Amino acid sequence: MSSPTAARLTIDLDALARNYAVLCAEAPGAEAAPVVKADGYGLDAGRIARRLWAEGARAFFVARLAEGEALRTALGAERPATIYVLDGFLPGSGPRLVAAGLTPVLSSLPQIEAASAFGRASAAPPQVAIQADTGMNRQGLSLEEAAVVAGSTDRLRGLDLRLIMSHLGSATSPDDPRNELQRGRFEQVRRLFPGVRASFAASAGIMLGPDYRNDIVRPGISLFGGGPEERPDPRLEAVATLEAPILYIRAVAPGEMVGYGASLIARRPMRIAVVAAGYADGLIRASRHGGYAWFGGARRPLVIVNMDLTAIDIGDAPATIGEYVELLGPNVPIDDAAAAAGTVAHECLVRLGGGRAERVYLGEV
Ligand SMILES: *Cc1c(COP(=O)(O)O)cnc(C)c1O
Repeated sequence: MSSPTAARLTIDLDALARNYAVLCAEAPGAEAAPVVKADGYGLDAGRIARRLWAEGARAFFVARLAEGEALRTALGAERPATIYVLDGFLPGSGPRLVAAGLTPVLSSLPQIEAASAFGRASAAPPQVAIQADTGMNRQGLSLEEAAVVAGSTDRLRGLDLRLIMSHLGSATSPDDPRNELQRGRFEQVRRLFPGVRASFAASAGIMLGPDYRNDIVRPGISLFGGGPEERPDPRLEAVATLEAPILYIRAVAPGEMVGYGASLIARRPMRIAVVAAGYADGLIRASRHGGYAWFGGARRPLVIVNMDLTAIDIGDAPATIGEYVELLGPNVPIDDAAAAAGTVAHECLVRLGGGRAERVYLGEV
């Protein structure tokens, strides 16, 4: 399995299942449809979705058409999930959407027009969702456009509208008044499409309370342990653990430099452990500014993060070559690593995708 000189990425699908159960319990009465875009936040959308199907998930969201096709293949005929594609209906994508049984999320009038023209020429009306913009100004119909679509008998001809949705821009700040503003606008949109199921909340929105949950919630990052307020949440567990073995242990005298361009000048005698992981394994270089690893039962400051090697100040901790250091995981939450790097947990996880670390999956079905 793993050789003793390589970083190891352990993906604990049992922890994923427990997080899913926590999120379902937070949204009673709503269906929790996991978001597994970007190859399941870098952790393998197929394995993630198969496990979540076993936990009761029956609908999933991806971003790209190709992600939807890959997920349909990974789920197989025995798991006929609804797969929503957030990119919607792009020119020429109709036959591929139908072939893979995907549900596009239509987010502009031209998309609705193109999908409707395709649907009218098809044997059966394809299932679609419609996204409205309620304040984020990224994608989705304006309120005025939504009213035009809802008020016309023609615009949705040839389409089977299954879901109306929108996305919150400030949900990680529960007290931000923009949440309530967006919610009010989404209520208006809902009233335009009576009888159609509605979806508003992603991970952070789920925690905003019952008014935000509607019929379907769309958890992404919290499935993988990311907290709804961009800091660790004790209800959620780490799913990905990145560890790397110590290659070298060295003493650095005061005044000596460490790393390229003297990234760090030792102000006191230091003991540095250099481990076999770097940004090629999915770490973020900037996370050395306040980021930490876990070793010997304590947090240890990151000193440098290079492509293949990361140096950690291990203080007086006893250490031996080959011993593993935790770089992300239960003791190094993705929210903390992300905060140190000036980014969000999502980016921290997605970086692991395509990384070089050897992978181990626990709890696979
Ligand atoms: C990515 C995304 C989600 C999931 O967001 P998380 O913050 O990861 O929970 C939900 N809905 C939409 C439209 C998204 O783009």
